Amino acid sequence: MDEEGPECGKPDFVLLDQVTMEDFMENLKLRFEKGRIYTYIGEVLVSVNPYQELPLYGPEAIAKYQGRELYERPPHLYAVANAAYRAMKRRSRDTCIVISGESGAGKTEASKHIMQYIAAVTNPSQRAEVDRVKDVLLKSTCMLEAFGNARTNRNHNSSRFGKYMDINFDFKGDPIGGHIHSYLLEKSRVLKQHVGERNFHAFYQVLRGCEDTELRNLHLQRNPAVYNFTRQGAGLNALESDERSHYLAVMEAMRVIGFSAEEVRSVHRILAAVLHLGNIEFVETEEAGLEQGHLEVAEEELVDHVAELTATPRELVLRCLLSRTVASGGRDLIEKGHTAAEASYARDACAKAVYQRLFEWVVSRINSVMETRDRDPRRDGKDTVIGVLDIYGFEVFPVNSFEQLCINYCNEKLQQLFIQLILKQEQEEYQREGITWQTVDYFNNATIVELVERPHRGVLAVLDEACSAAGTITDRIFLQSLDTHHRHHPHYTSRQLCPTDKTMEFGRDFRIKHYAGDVTYSVEGFIDKNRDHLFQDFKRLMYNSSDPTLRAMWPDGQQDITEVTKRPLTAGTLFKNSMVALVENLASKEPFYVRCIKPNEDKVASRLDEDHCRHQVAYLGLLENVRVRRAGFASRQPYPRFLLRYKMTCEYTWPNHLLGSDKAAVSALLEQHGLQGDVAFGHTKLFIRSPQTLVTLEQSRARLIPIIVLLLQKHTLKDNYVPFSDHAEVSR
Ligand code: ADP
Ligand code: MG
Repeated sequence: MDEEGPECGKPDFVLLDQVTMEDFMENLKLRFEKGRIYTYIGEVLVSVNPYQELPLYGPEAIAKYQGRELYERPPHLYAVANAAYRAMKRRSRDTCIVISGESGAGKTEASKHIMQYIAAVTNPSQRAEVDRVKDVLLKSTCMLEAFGNARTNRNHNSSRFGKYMDINFDFKGDPIGGHIHSYLLEKSRVLKQHVGERNFHAFYQVLRGCEDTELRNLHLQRNPAVYNFTRQGAGLNALESDERSHYLAVMEAMRVIGFSAEEVRSVHRILAAVLHLGNIEFVETEEAGLEQGHLEVAEEELVDHVAELTATPRELVLRCLLSRTVASGGRDLIEKGHTAAEASYARDACAKAVYQRLFEWVVSRINSVMETRDRDPRRDGKDTVIGVLDIYGFEVFPVNSFEQLCINYCNEKLQQLFIQLILKQEQEEYQREGITWQTVDYFNNATIVELVERPHRGVLAVLDEACSAAGTITDRIFLQSLDTHHRHHPHYTSRQLCPTDKTMEFGRDFRIKHYAGDVTYSVEGFIDKNRDHLFQDFKRLMYNSSDPTLRAMWPDGQQDITEVTKRPLTAGTLFKNSMVALVENLASKEPFYVRCIKPNEDKVASRLDEDHCRHQVAYLGLLENVRVRRAGFASRQPYPRFLLRYKMTCEYTWPNHLLGSDKAAVSALLEQHGLQGDVAFGHTKLFIRSPQTLVTLEQSRARLIPIIVLLLQKHTLKDNYVPFSDHAEVSR
């Protein structure tokens, strides 16, 4: 990898002459055009998706970053991975890498490069157990993508879940275990996809990849257009051969991770059962004298398939599809027949839940294999951890629902953490170095987080209240209740509160002013999605399956309907709790940030749409980030590193100084340049206030280097001369 010259723009946005959107965009664009997709803001990495293979990765590139400091090489993910790794090793502190950005911005690819870097630089002694853990870590991505990713209009391999992965390291710095948390799988995709989108990859892989005999055993036909759940995306299939090779890759991953052949078969059976469930339809026949018609399954053969594939009795499957058990008063149970609409609803809820449980089981199965076994007794089990968070970015669609509220709330939480930690880190460093801290103004989005999550009054709490009330509460009443609670909130509005705003529909929409922009949510379906109701009969059915794998996914099916006294937690509350836990977890670690930007909506290489990017730069708060960084000090460097880079610009310091301490030498150097007014001297580091100072130093260095190189070429090298290995770096 070549080093960067000034024609590539500024490698750190902190070095911009002025922090304006225009300057920021200009630098971003210039770098992108030169194939420089990575740029720093201090220690934060900004990454633009190149939508093409760039020669930036692989063992050679990894070797260039291994063991280096962040600024020694051009900005790169490897440098961030390396910094997180070294910080963890040096200080025995847990670190984390938070990757954010909108769908298709390159988060998941970034997380894979980070994992590859870590896998490449660890375990030099090739311990078998460590190798095993690394294999599982790398292969788990392939499996998770099969079950959790889908083609969407924004990204052909879009992660439909949030992922946080901890990698545990022993005292030698080798990975000895890991743990994956998954968040909010978009399970509604099982039932329905937008035009141009597909269901989760796993369905197509099984349809296209299985051998004929297995397919017959699953009662499946190869063509995805045959199934309601896969019909919409059937015309968008990847090449059949690709689908098959993905299928084989997933089979291989499952084998390496340690799934048994029986488990793999169960997984296929469950996928097939979901597809068959989706084709079940109901017919209501009118019966004389009955208030409610008689309900039947249109194609009974499908019930046979579902029963066989889930290893459950056919009669029970049928009963679960057509009716539910309700406790009437005391402990009496009665069977209440579904209407056709209720039956369809219950079937869909079941299909979604079966798939979600399958996904969660896959995650927990991978976790059980990666659990840290090889703890070092000398460390009392105190391993250190690097966490990698790859989670959905801020989302705005033409119609936004409950899922978008959750996702955007998640981004509010992460943004808050970002602000707190970046500021906190700065503050701590200034204290450590004995420098006076100046307060920086920034927009604190705590109030928006509160609006969503606050107990009793927050949007999620009001929604829970609506869900716990008996069936009569509608989405519309929920909206009225929100209006009552938040009519004076500066970040909340609705048509009711602002009748002149015709961009919202009366009785349907509310709007939250998120830090990233305004989002209008439609309350339709909020109560249903939050309640996420699944009849206990289904749970019991699955729990009583004679397939141990399926059974293991349904521990809560053990309960009888009369024992189910407590209402299960709502989807919103579960999500909120998981976010609170996630943020607590991240806050306890030293964070590194990767902010991903999507250059255009068409997924094409070499095109950066300015408007599109400007919006992302704005809502990711990148300009604020630069300002915060600069309002304090644009740059800070340990004295020895500063001298290495600039000592040739001053007669007192070149080639070596005799000034007693590096700090004194740096002071002399700056005085000669007349720059000492713009810096503060910390205990171990020099803090430079304005980027202009750095620019001046850089220019002076750039003028001198060719002269020095010439000198060196002319004269024999003396022992104490510094060899110039390359332009950007001076090594001792
Ligand atoms: P996200 O996870 O943010 O939704 P992905 O990481 O899945 O986005 O990236 C979307 C697509 O963009 C990938 O499938 C790949 O084609 C392309 N892409 C992303 N990052 C890179 C990269 N560093 N180099 C080449 N292509 C990339
Ligand atoms: Mg992704």
